[in-house]
Amino acid sequence: MIERRKSRLVKAGNVRIGGGAPVVLQSMTNTLTTDAGGTIRQINDLMRAGCDLVRVAVPDFDSVVTFGQIRKAVGVPLIADIHFDYKLAIAAIENGADKIRINPGNIGGFDRVRKILRAAEKYNIPIRIGVNAGSLEKNLRLSKGVSVEAMLESCLKQVKAVEDEGFRNIVLSIKTSSIPAAIEVNRLAAKETDYPLHLGLTEAGLPEDGSVKSAVALGILLAEGIGDTIRVSLTGDPLNEIRTGLTILRVLGLKPPGLDIISCPTCARTHGPVEDTARRLQCELAGINKPLKIAVMGCEVNGPGEAREADIGLAFSKNGGIIFRKGEILGRLKNPLEDFMKEVKKLI
Ligand code: SF4
Repeated sequence: MIERRKSRLVKAGNVRIGGGAPVVLQSMTNTLTTDAGGTIRQINDLMRAGCDLVRVAVPDFDSVVTFGQIRKAVGVPLIADIHFDYKLAIAAIENGADKIRINPGNIGGFDRVRKILRAAEKYNIPIRIGVNAGSLEKNLRLSKGVSVEAMLESCLKQVKAVEDEGFRNIVLSIKTSSIPAAIEVNRLAAKETDYPLHLGLTEAGLPEDGSVKSAVALGILLAEGIGDTIRVSLTGDPLNEIRTGLTILRVLGLKPPGLDIISCPTCARTHGPVEDTARRLQCELAGINKPLKIAVMGCEVNGPGEAREADIGLAFSKNGGIIFRKGEILGRLKNPLEDFMKEVKKLI
């Protein structure tokens, strides 16, 4: 059981972040925000896949208009992602943003940040202060380089300025693509403040490598109780971010278990198409959240024993396959793929 860091509670719409609430899983749309229909579809897909909170970039005033329409059409709180223009932030807040993500360092002076804070206060929404290694203030970059020390200092300086305005409805994020730096800077931030922390990496890459990098960085921090909300940033379809994020949270016991397809690595004893079968199950059962462990194993000699914890399993044999539950053999299958699919579907 992971002992979570005690953080202050912040709310984005009906989603609680910090204060002992379950870790919130978020993603970001990659459609054009001006394409309201496409963005709504993507948000609904993300929501169905298990996403708790969706971030939407608002790069111009046309996007503010559609952001408002999108907000009204979806059932999940939205974070407006703003860079450079404080007027966009205020307009997004007025158009229903449940949370705003800004980097106070690139808004063009604290007077403008102050105006955003007043609007957020009026609408009672939180602000995520996001510091990225790539966009550190010039003076810090020159004096301390792009270092853990510089990122932490930048973040704490911005927090102090915002707190001096009496604003504490804050979530913090400090992101870098370096895994050791991400771990270290978040450990330090967790000690220095009690604000909820949003965890993620920048430029994590394509799903294959990016998932591993995120699992390492976020997994280590989450296992230490650090992190109130996460995003696994991956290039491509944001649904991959949710699948990976959910897996990270589930294996750590931070989200209830869901469908878990396990399969053996295959070897010279393999009698059937383990990979194809596991992929077909994954594809056909996508979106099913029932807690069920399904095993696909290559041989009947070791399969049922090795996958003893499975609720239902298939082990290929010379003449077909066997079906088993919790290590116990239930029967033989002549057409393993089709017969097994039918048995699995009875359980969901
Ligand atoms: S379950 Fe059988 S086929 Fe799969 S890796 Fe183990 S021994 Fe090999």
